[in-house]
Amino acid sequence: MTDQIPHEATMPLDGPLVDTYGRVADDLRISVTDRCNFRCTYCMPAEGLAWLPKHEILTFEELTRVLGIFVRLGVRSLKVTGGEPLVRADLPVLIRLFREAGPDLDISLTTNGVLLDRLAGPLAEAGVDRATISCDSLLRHRFEEMTRRDALDKVLAGMRAAEAAGLTPIKINCVVIGGTNDDEVVDFARWSRETGYEVRFIEYMPLDAQHAWEREKVVPAARILAAIDAVHPLLPEGHANEPATTFRFADGAPGRIGVIASVTEPFCDTCNRLRLTAEGMFRNCLFAMGETDLRAPMRGGASDDDLALLIRQGLWSKWSGHRINHPDFVQPARSMSMIGG
Ligand code: SAM
Ligand code: SF4
Repeated sequence: MTDQIPHEATMPLDGPLVDTYGRVADDLRISVTDRCNFRCTYCMPAEGLAWLPKHEILTFEELTRVLGIFVRLGVRSLKVTGGEPLVRADLPVLIRLFREAGPDLDISLTTNGVLLDRLAGPLAEAGVDRATISCDSLLRHRFEEMTRRDALDKVLAGMRAAEAAGLTPIKINCVVIGGTNDDEVVDFARWSRETGYEVRFIEYMPLDAQHAWEREKVVPAARILAAIDAVHPLLPEGHANEPATTFRFADGAPGRIGVIASVTEPFCDTCNRLRLTAEGMFRNCLFAMGETDLRAPMRGGASDDDLALLIRQGLWSKWSGHRINHPDFVQPARSMSMIGG
């Protein structure tokens, strides 16, 4: 693949959402807020970021309208994210609206889990199918060091609440940073076998607000898998349209291991992701340098067809893949919490 857009390619005005490389996009992440109650070192500075003023954030009606357009364009799964999505007031009300806009959508939530003990039940009732909960360490002091919050017990309680509410299978996102928590991967695997949760190890990406990312701190997924496999042998499962490659335990124990090797083994060739930021910017890639404003046209009276066309055009300009491993790589101005990871 090259970054040249084929001249002969003509953008289709109906049918599935597709880019010039023939990739069909049917998986949408909506960030419902840029705010967060954690300050993970690999995502945000200790003092937080300048939050968007309320009037810049899409309202429930605007978010639901845009989701309805994406559903019409073929989106089949929705991940609700942020910032921390659970700090958006009345999130269960919004989820109910999302469910009405997409009765058949697979709706999942990515959360730091700290408010889940209270909200898992109402969110499940409103229509969330599954939860992915972030957890970078099973050691209290290290969890606090990485998130800048002493909240491990609360997050573990949130996981149990999510399980009890039926937000299963529970997936755990663990960002692995060399010299910080890479000595815990086998402990996480043991914990996966005990809890049945799928632990997904994510390679550290250059998306931190402080721009402090260092390549030397990326722990390759292959190394993580080798460390686990030496203690708890693994059987590969596959990749089926997921960023994570997943593995079962060879001895049949419960649980599952996933790796998201965004840096060392990019999966751009099969990427089916679409993203909407909290203030209504459509992004065709986590690392994209440009985005399509849907909010201004929407507030200016654009029709659903106008917005659908903007989305098609926004996806049409998607590049073949991110440039992390190229000398010309430029980190996007927005960090993970502002994009919606
Ligand atoms: N606040 C929620 C949470 O933490 O789960 C949802 C938003 S957060 C931006 C989504 C995911 O992105 C989390 O699992 C987080 O660990 C991950 N993430 C944030 N910054 C990252 C980075 N620099 N590299 C890799 N993953 C990152
Ligand atoms: Fe907040 Fe999630 Fe970023 Fe951590 S990773 S600071 S919980 S948005």
